[in-house]
Amino acid sequence: LVKGIGDDAAVIRPRGAAELWALTTDLLVEEVDFRRDWLEPGQLGYKALAVNLSDLAAMGVRPTFCTVGLSLPRDITGAWIRRFYDGLNTLAQPRGVSVIGGDLSASPAHIQIAVTALGQSRGRRVLYRSGGKPGHSLFVTGTLGLAAAGLKILQSGTTANAGAACKLALKRHCTPEPRCEVGLWLAQSGIVGAMMDLSDGLSADLPRLCEASGVGAEVHASRLPLFSESSRWGCDPLALALHGGEDFELLFSVSPRRVRTLEATYPVQYPPIQYIGDLTAKRGIYLISEEGGPRRRLPRLGFDHFAAR
Ligand SMILES: [Mg+2]
Repeated sequence: LVKGIGDDAAVIRPRGAAELWALTTDLLVEEVDFRRDWLEPGQLGYKALAVNLSDLAAMGVRPTFCTVGLSLPRDITGAWIRRFYDGLNTLAQPRGVSVIGGDLSASPAHIQIAVTALGQSRGRRVLYRSGGKPGHSLFVTGTLGLAAAGLKILQSGTTANAGAACKLALKRHCTPEPRCEVGLWLAQSGIVGAMMDLSDGLSADLPRLCEASGVGAEVHASRLPLFSESSRWGCDPLALALHGGEDFELLFSVSPRRVRTLEATYPVQYPPIQYIGDLTAKRGIYLISEEGGPRRRLPRLGFDHFAAR
């Protein structure tokens, strides 16, 4: 065992193996993690694998295999199961991930899905949450708050005349895009300190990276890549970016003297990366609302809080 509980995935090195292997598992429960009327079976299959591949991306490893455990109520048909696997395979096949086993059981009421995924390192380069140092610059991939804005639309029940921004938010909620290639590239680059994926929202996940690294952080609100269009349907883009959850983007730290190398070599075809703040020697997570303005403690909210509103 190289790394046990406490990171995005566990890491092992089998005796005699040249490479490290990362393992992760995620459980999706109907009425807790999803609603059957909000997600098609294919989307559910896709998402059940995507959340696992995001954790492997966060370690910087290449996904290879997965197993699928399904607990299904009696009203689920064979056609439903085929659509579930079709959706899962639209994500798995292009990435070279094979389904190599699983289990099936009846369920008294709700659908439950447990996917376990394995990934292999390249050159034993794996990134951990604990690799951050004071002074490191913090970056995220993509846009924050998109999936949460999509969930808001579903909760409001007004998907009928959705525009392009609405559709994008719904797509990100229903079929999140795990950053597999980016994670692997960042691990291979040799310039990243700490890395994790954002699943519960920046305000809940950043403290986990900081605790593992023994540091604090300052985040600049003005630097966050917000999904500003969500204000059109009554959302607060900043609140969604901080506390919304299910972004499945990567959060990583880079030594300030390597930032120029990162920006010069990061592939243009990959999702954009954005500097959002810095790791600090002083513990605690702070948000700077405007440049030169006061900083305030960032409350550790997250997905549960958002769901309760
Ligand atoms: Mg994770």
